[in-house]
This record gives sequence, structure tokens and C-alpha cells, in this order.
Amino acid sequence: MTDYHGHIIDGREVDSLDGRRFASVDPWTREPWAEAALGDPADAAVAVAAARRAFDEGPWPRMGYAERGRILHRLADLLEERQAEIRLADTRDMGKPVTQSGHDVQRAAANFRFFADHARLSTGQLLPMDSGHHAYTRFEPSGVTAAIAPWNFPLMLESWKIAPALAWGNTVVLKPAEDTPVSATLLARLALEAGMPPGVLNVVHGFGPDSVGQALTEDPRVDRITFTGESATGRVIAGAAAANLTPVSLELGGKGANIVFADAELDNAVHWSVEAIFRNAGQVCLAGSRLFVQRAVYDEFLSRFVKKAEALVAGDPSDPATELGPLASETHFAKVSSYVTDVGEGTILTGGLGEGWAVRPTVIVGLEPSARHCREEIFGPVVVVRPFDTEEEAVALANGTPYGLNAMLFTENVNRAHRVSAALRAGTVWLNCFFIRDLRAPFGGVGDSGIGREGGDFGREFFTEPKAVVMQI
Ligand code: NAD
Repeated sequence: MTDYHGHIIDGREVDSLDGRRFASVDPWTREPWAEAALGDPADAAVAVAAARRAFDEGPWPRMGYAERGRILHRLADLLEERQAEIRLADTRDMGKPVTQSGHDVQRAAANFRFFADHARLSTGQLLPMDSGHHAYTRFEPSGVTAAIAPWNFPLMLESWKIAPALAWGNTVVLKPAEDTPVSATLLARLALEAGMPPGVLNVVHGFGPDSVGQALTEDPRVDRITFTGESATGRVIAGAAAANLTPVSLELGGKGANIVFADAELDNAVHWSVEAIFRNAGQVCLAGSRLFVQRAVYDEFLSRFVKKAEALVAGDPSDPATELGPLASETHFAKVSSYVTDVGEGTILTGGLGEGWAVRPTVIVGLEPSARHCREEIFGPVVVVRPFDTEEEAVALANGTPYGLNAMLFTENVNRAHRVSAALRAGTVWLNCFFIRDLRAPFGGVGDSGIGREGGDFGREFFTEPKAVVMQI
């Protein structure tokens, strides 16, 4: 074990009040590789007090957008400069191939730059009224944001939450997932180096229930809760938030449908379909885990898809050649392998258990939509494939789960493309592509996939208190 990572509270790196620590296990070596401070509700309370003070009395909410933006841009520069160290943190904490972790660091830097500029360039409305009065809008920071993050894109999703919160003048307490503590401390150290005042970005490590996570969601001094994680956890957090009427943004699970029509450009469809389910070993909320292929191209598509899946390079995630690492933890490996060792009425075309905590790219056919593999979020490199005949059937299959985070469709027919995009019950639809993001676009889910949208102006609505001023002039 080499490295220790404390909480960052009020501008200082500190131990837990009771001195406890916990180990982060590298899922490739299956050995502890780092330690973090183990916080509890008392540590969370100290961090919220620091964030509260920094908001009520400190310079951050009172700085201009340009000055805040300079610090956020400097943080983005530092992330890129230290990319080699930072990307290894996520790779060793959760087994993500290092090229993908590197991409996440770049996305994190882009998030800070984008939200800094978005806030600075945002405009309010001026509404001339028939009565001669005028109304205008102000976007005032909402206060202390509690950000609770999952382990599958640690640094990237943490930056996605805290960049808009900070850009709009809020202060933040971030709780990273317990499986991936390291990059959050690295990020907060860099924020201080970039000139962020004490108490503006606090990080407290710990667990969810009866620990730091729960304490943050129940603290009445918190003004916003932004959470990404499982739908079941989202329900608990929505309940805690309701007690204090704290606005909450929930980015939850998914069971993405991926529809390939017979007129699709097949090379493109195969490329993105493989990316959609096997990138990050399928540990992606947006994963295309249900693949529907029109019968006329079913055999051709499937043989190309399986071939490409089998060609993915699995192995040591710190090797730049690796495309598929192990699953993030022993617990998660046990969950995903239960779907691979028991496929019910289905047939495995390729895949199965891999080395250590790895699962090979696994393609299952022959399951009814009611099978648990087709309904539950597996969150691993496991895809169920099914042929369909008509557009209506494909849409009904795609919309047939309580989730509604995203969907993909591949077709060269422009009318069908827009008709089906409109009919899909999803927060994002990708047409002939996957995973491409514009940070101005709304991001979030329908049904069990969440409440609210973040991104661009949608994030502004959440992280500020929009105020109307009506004047007689
Ligand atoms: P999780 O819900 O188990 O944990 C997420 C975070 O919540 C962790 O930091 C955890 O400690 C904390 N937590 C757990 N219980 C809590 C409680 N009662 N109160 C407060 N905090 C609590 O999720 P996970 O396993 O870390 O992440 C995987 C899930 O995240 C998947 O379902 C995936 O689809 C979802 N996800 C969604 C998106 C999205 O944008 N919609 C993105 C990534 C991941």
C-alpha cells in the first residue's frame, strides 16, 4: 500500500475525527493499493459547516464570473498537466483501462472549462409588460451543494456535478463512491492549488447508509443535492431530501435499448453497438444492454458483432493496449457473474467468466423480454440480443422497461430516424452514434432513470435560485 488520501475540508487535508481509514482495492491485482480517511456523519457535519461558512461569508459567491472562471480554467489546466497521475487513480481504484481513464480526465477538464464559460456568458431575460412594467431574471447561487457520486466514471461524473455548482457561485461537499476515493482527493488538492478559496470544494470520504452519504442528504444546511447512482438509492435520497424540501437532481440507472434497422450502415452500427455495451466493461448507465436487430440483417449483424466483441483486448487496465479491464470490485463481480452463470432459457453466443474479477464480452440470445437479464440493470459486459420485424415492435420492445435514460437507433431512413427518436421513452436518443455529448444539451432520465436534467441552462435552473424582479419605470 502506497498512498493515503484524507478528506479535504476548509482548505486542508485532514483525517477523520476518529482517525479511521479504509483501503481501496485494485480489482486487477485484487490487493489494497491506497487508503482513504473513513468519514462518518460527524465528519460530514464539519464539511457542511465549512461549505456553509464559505458560502455565507467567503469570497466565492461574491466574485465575478470571470474571476471564478479563471480559477476553474486553471483547475482544468492542472488536471491536464497531471493527467498521467490522475488517470491511474481511477484505473487502480476500479479497473478502468487507462486510455479510457485518460479520456475521463480530459472530459473532466472540459466540464470545468465549459461550465465556467457557460455561467459567464449566460444572459437573463428582460420582459417588457403591457402595463408598462418590466420584469427581469437574476440567477443567484443556491448555497451549499451536496454531490454524491458513483464509482463507474469517478472523476468525470464528480466534475460534471461540481463544475456547474461552482461556476454558479455555490460551495460544495463532494462524497465520492467508497470504491473510488482517490481521484476526488487529487481533484480537491488541485482546486486549492488553482486558487480556490478554503471551504469552497470539500471532499468527505465514506459510505452511504448511516454514513457520510446519508448525513449529507439529511442536513438542513444543504441547499441542493445532486446524486448519481442506482435507482433504489435515488428513492432513499429523494425521501431524505423531502424532509427538508431540499431540491434534488437524480441521475439513476438505465437499461438502454439499441435498435438496428435493416437499412443501417452496418459497419457503423457494429462499431457503436460494441462501444455501447463493452466500453468500461459495460459499467455504464448508458450502456446499450438490450440490442434489437431487424430480422433481414440479424444473422449478418450478429456474426460481425460477435467477431468484434471477441477481438477486444482484455487484461491489465494499466496497459494502454487493454480495452476491457476487470469489474470494479469483488461484490460487483459476484453480481454480474450471476447473470452469466445462469442464463435461464437463453444461449450464450460468446463470453463467460474471465480471469480474476473479469467477465468476458458476453452475448446472450433467446431470452424473452420478461427475463431478468432483459429487465434488470446488469452493469457489466453482458448484452441480450433479439430480432424484430416491424418498427412498431422495435419501439414497444425498447420502451418496455421502467428505465428511460437513453436509446440508440441505426437507420439511413431520415423519416424513420426522427419518427422513432420521438417515440422512444428516453432522456437522450443517439442516432447512428453513441456517447457523443454536447454539454449544452439536457442530460437525465425518464421513469426509474431519474428526476431532472443537468447540462447547460438545465444545470443553471438547478444550481441557482432564479429570481424575478418586477419594476415600474
Ligand atoms: P450506488 O447508488 O450504490 O452509490 C452511489 C453513491 O451513493 C455512492 O457514493 C454511495 O456511497 C452513495 N449512497 C449509497 N446509499 C446512500 C444513501 N442511503 N444516502 C446517501 N448516499 C448513499 O450506485 P453505484 O453502484 O455507485 O453506481 C452505479 C449506478 O449508478 C448504476 O445504477 C448506474 O446506472 C448509475 N449511474 C447513473 C448515471 C446517470 O447519469 N444516470 C451515470 C453513472 C452511473
